[in-house]
Amino acid sequence: KKFKDGMTKTRESFSGKVNDLVARYRKVDEDFFEELEEILISADVGVSTVMELIDELKMEVKRRNIQDPKEVQDVISEKLIEIYESGQEHLSEVNIQKDGLTVILFVGVNGVGKTTTIGKLAHKYKQEGKSVVMAAGDTFRAGAIEQLEVWGDRVGVSVIKQSAGSDPAAVMYDAVQAAKARKADVLLCDTAGRLQNKVNLMKELEKVKRVIEREVPGAPHEVLLVLDATTGQNALSQAKTFSETTDVTGIVLTKLDGTAKGGIVIAIRNELNLPVKFVGLGEKMDDLQQFQTEQYVYGLFA
Ligand code: GDP
Repeated sequence: KKFKDGMTKTRESFSGKVNDLVARYRKVDEDFFEELEEILISADVGVSTVMELIDELKMEVKRRNIQDPKEVQDVISEKLIEIYESGQEHLSEVNIQKDGLTVILFVGVNGVGKTTTIGKLAHKYKQEGKSVVMAAGDTFRAGAIEQLEVWGDRVGVSVIKQSAGSDPAAVMYDAVQAAKARKADVLLCDTAGRLQNKVNLMKELEKVKRVIEREVPGAPHEVLLVLDATTGQNALSQAKTFSETTDVTGIVLTKLDGTAKGGIVIAIRNELNLPVKFVGLGEKMDDLQQFQTEQYVYGLFA
């Protein structure tokens, strides 16, 4: 599925409201900005980010002496891109090693789409000609190992596992050895996502990470936090919790196809300084896309 198709719900809601706003106002004034502020907040852009954006918009509108509300729309896109990128390019690039094994660790609470994302990404890398191994590190959630195996069969990638309830760090050790022995390019590691017992979960993640660090110098090369876009501000608070305890390097935002509140992308980047690396746009193996700022921002309107 294409980026643009996956964002239909957000676009219809967001651009519908903006178009309606632009049609109702003859000139850009305080009331106009107030309504725009509400639209942005309702799209989950995040209050502090919206304040910043509105301030910048006001300055730019004044600087360019813009009177016509229609012209503001382009400025919104420009400013959203500016805020998102804040001077950095290639934000969604994944730290794939040119030689040797790349290890990517996936963290996030249950139900956000972690297993599905790992399966989709295994497929993507395999399509690119890479040899991929998956590690069934969620030994806690019932069915997590089997679910990863289903993905393994579907995309033709092997899964390293132990029995349910076993030590995830031991699974990681096995998986790293297997990946090395097979001279794999990419090892994708699932982890448990229960947040009910935060301290234990974080300890478990640290232990898993230590094994990977010890066995593969420089690894994990990415720690991707998977968030469900449909949970809105909840996703933002999960991101805060995880990034306080683990060195998260990027975000996978799933179920963007299922929400009208795709503005969360901007909030995550601006408030937590974490780039979105991939977005999930559906349940099938092809429904994962590398994030692209311009496609995303223009997808809000076009
Ligand atoms: P986990 O508990 O984090 O491993 O979550 P799962 O991978 O089991 O996913 C939970 C549910 O979300 C499943 O029904 C998936 O098919 C669904 N899902 C995952 N990613 C997406 C996505 O990008 N779009 C949609 N529409 N559904 C998704």
